[in-house]
Amino acid sequence: MTKGSSSGRTGGSLPRFGLHVSTAGGLDRIFPRGEALACGTVQIFSHSSRSWEFALPDPPVLAAYTTARSRASFSDVFIHASYLINMASDDPEIARKSVETLEKELATARLLGAEGLVLHPGSARGGERSAAVLRAASRIREVLDRLPGGGTPLLLENTAGAGSMLGATPEEMSEILSAIDRPEQTGICLDSCHLFASGFDLDEEGAGQELVSRFCEALPGGRPSLWHLNDALYPRGSGRDRHAGLGEGHIGLPALGQIVRLAVASETPIVLETPKGDGDEEDRRNMRRLFSLAGLPVPAEIASE
Ligand SMILES: [Zn+2]
Ligand SMILES: [Zn+2]
Repeated sequence: MTKGSSSGRTGGSLPRFGLHVSTAGGLDRIFPRGEALACGTVQIFSHSSRSWEFALPDPPVLAAYTTARSRASFSDVFIHASYLINMASDDPEIARKSVETLEKELATARLLGAEGLVLHPGSARGGERSAAVLRAASRIREVLDRLPGGGTPLLLENTAGAGSMLGATPEEMSEILSAIDRPEQTGICLDSCHLFASGFDLDEEGAGQELVSRFCEALPGGRPSLWHLNDALYPRGSGRDRHAGLGEGHIGLPALGQIVRLAVASETPIVLETPKGDGDEEDRRNMRRLFSLAGLPVPAEIASE
């Protein structure tokens, strides 16, 4: 396998297909972990996604990460922000912690040279949606403005459409992005499971392209910065955010294949957040299916059972 270009953006030998991987043992471990699974990109949590405890990576950790990254066959890293963050909260204490944590997440993402920080837009928690949209947008803008100088963009992820979660429809996503009003520092991550759970029919010919256009209307580039490719454990419109392995859920391989071809054509990276078992068998199987859906030969690392 040849080494990726130093930027790792387009010159690497592997397409930007990857998985959410564990940071167990240190941030530097994500590169060998990704290489063993033929990843051209990976997604990580920068700290426990279910804890408010958060420390920026210290210099030795950062140095080990940078060295491992410079030697790896890929350099693209996405970070998924903590699930605890709710930028739309009307509870002042949650709002304060959310702002603080998002600021640390973005600072960490920039230290790590991440391609994007993925964030769920927030929840109205039973309150009025339009007020929640404005609260989330103004707090996000505040955080972005406190960390000047570009760097890692904040990618808002579409949600599964349950209850008060914001960002399940193109209209609401556009509303949030327009209200944040920082187009150079924001983008979108589209999740196939969430699209399907919130009722969109991905089987229809051209459905993916239409959804991309509608969701990304408020973005200058008009396309997502990242796809989360997941099958869905529950039927269309369930509102339930439960992922399944590719071809093992209700979306199925033909519809997922349409999305893969669309992502490849627009050079958008794809990260799988599919269920994992004890070993790496599920990851290997899902990556094999991803390469097959793209019509690409399956890399040797993941070729065998
Ligand atoms: Zn996702
Ligand atoms: Zn999900």
